[in-house]
Parts: sequence; structure tokens; C-alpha cells
Amino acid sequence: MVIADQSRHIESDIQSAMLEWRQRGASTGASIGPLSAYAEVPLFVNSKASRLVQLADFVAYWVYRGYESGDASVLQRLAPGFDQEGDVLHGLVHLVRDYRTCECLACASRRDAP
Ligand SMILES: [Zn+2]
Repeated sequence: MVIADQSRHIESDIQSAMLEWRQRGASTGASIGPLSAYAEVPLFVNSKASRLVQLADFVAYWVYRGYESGDASVLQRLAPGFDQEGDVLHGLVHLVRDYRTCECLACASRRDAP
């Protein structure tokens, strides 16, 4: 499911991105293949009217900062909120070729799992 803030994104840009994700996969730096199982068409909401979208934006921002800027201070505090089973984080996945050497929360939880 793709949910976008209607005040930030132009619908045609999101439609184009979804078409590309369906055909070639997302550009995450890792090859995850085409994403063909979308539940819906893109949903556009006004983030000013939806606290849930504001929360998702907040979490996405701090996940981004944790991985791209090396500032994982807030991500560390958010980690218990991600879906997990035992000590393995399922709700936060780092798409990296060699998770065995990555020190992030998501990779470490998988590496250390029994
Ligand atoms: Zn990682």
C-alpha cells in the first residue's frame, strides 16, 4: 500500500513511481525485484488532517536519519515499536547485501537470532 501526502506529492509522479516499482523494483541500493502485490492504488491524504500520517512521517524521517546520516538516537528509541518476534525485528528491514557485517538494529537482530 502506498500512502502519500497530497500536499507534497503530485499524483502523476507517484503513479509513475509505482509503475516503475511494479516493472523494475524499488531503487533501494539492493535488488529486491519487481513489487507486484500492491493492495490498492496510491492513497493521497492531507497530513495536516491525519495524525496517523504525521506519525508515519515522523517515523520515516528518523529511520531515514538513522541510516543516511548515522544519527540513530531517535531510531533506537522507536525500535521497540516495530513488529518483532523474540529479538528479531520484522517491522524494520535493512535491504543490504551482507547483513552479516551490518551493525544496524535490523541486521543485528537477524544475525543474532538462533
Ligand atoms: Zn543493516
